[in-house]
Amino acid sequence: MSPKNMSEDTASEDKASRTDVRGVDIAKEKKKQAAQLKRVRRLRRCNVRMMILSVVILMALCVMLIARVRTLDGTVARLTAQVDSLMRLTAQQREMMEKMTEETQSAMGDKAVVGSLEKEAEGDEGTESGEPEEEEPDAAHKVYLTFDDGPSVNTEKILEILEKYDVKATFFVVGTACENNEEALKKIVEAGHTLGMHSCTHKYSELYGSVESFGEDLKRQQDYLYEVTGVKSNVFRFPGGSSNKVSDIDMKEFAQYLDSQDVRFFDWNISSGDGGSYLFPTETIIENCTSNISKYSTSVVLMHDSAGKSTTLEALPTIIEKIQAMEDTVILPITGGTKPVQHIQWQDGE
Ligand SMILES: [Zn+2]
Repeated sequence: MSPKNMSEDTASEDKASRTDVRGVDIAKEKKKQAAQLKRVRRLRRCNVRMMILSVVILMALCVMLIARVRTLDGTVARLTAQVDSLMRLTAQQREMMEKMTEETQSAMGDKAVVGSLEKEAEGDEGTESGEPEEEEPDAAHKVYLTFDDGPSVNTEKILEILEKYDVKATFFVVGTACENNEEALKKIVEAGHTLGMHSCTHKYSELYGSVESFGEDLKRQQDYLYEVTGVKSNVFRFPGGSSNKVSDIDMKEFAQYLDSQDVRFFDWNISSGDGGSYLFPTETIIENCTSNISKYSTSVVLMHDSAGKSTTLEALPTIIEKIQAMEDTVILPITGGTKPVQHIQWQDGE
């Protein structure tokens, strides 16, 4: 073989070997690509699975959240209902407390009487607010008949009885009741009785909520009574008395406020017992009103002329007759000269 042929052979062998190498490279490349494609597909599948999983988890979370909100809704509704019923209960309790206070205060005649006796034993001076401004007739026993919570249908009947016995009394009227009974208010004043204030609403929670609300109520009633009767009332009786246990604010503050307005307040030292919801028998009311009068120089008798107090109405003529038959005893209306009977000590420094 010639060298030329040999070199040709070698060249063709080289060529063949290069072609083989390229073939192997291509095969490798293809394999590589196939592997990459496979990886990409796997990744894609993985991504899709992840997305589906995320959506499922999200949906599950949403369902749980909705369920939770619903449960919370139910709980809130239940709690609201509970709060509502609690508030209703509190209001009922408050009302019951007010009623009980009214009844206790009404039955408090005896306790007040003890206080009054103690005061009298100490002497007449130094216990009252200011000097008497008006002269009162001299008598060993002065009796002040007072009627609270009117006017009502009973007021005019009481006025007739008082007129029959020529007796003057004191009416501590309630604002709201007055608005329908302006005629009765005028008659009280025209007949020479004393017109006293007993608040517009008689609602303890409103009245004793603050000194401001108390002051507003007082002014409203004073203005109203002046408008109807032309008389500026300057005497007051606290609903429940000054010793009531309903007010959260010290009753001293209200007493001092009244003093700043030149209004005097009167409690009582004799109670008819007719203030509660129980209707006392006529005989008991007569006994309650008259049995202790001879013990005191000043007797402030608590009665009620609100509607429904029929036994008070029945008892009144006998009460007056019995008092008028007592020695050195007079029945008077409360005036500027009347010695106040008060359950609490409210002046500073005493
Ligand atoms: Zn009252």
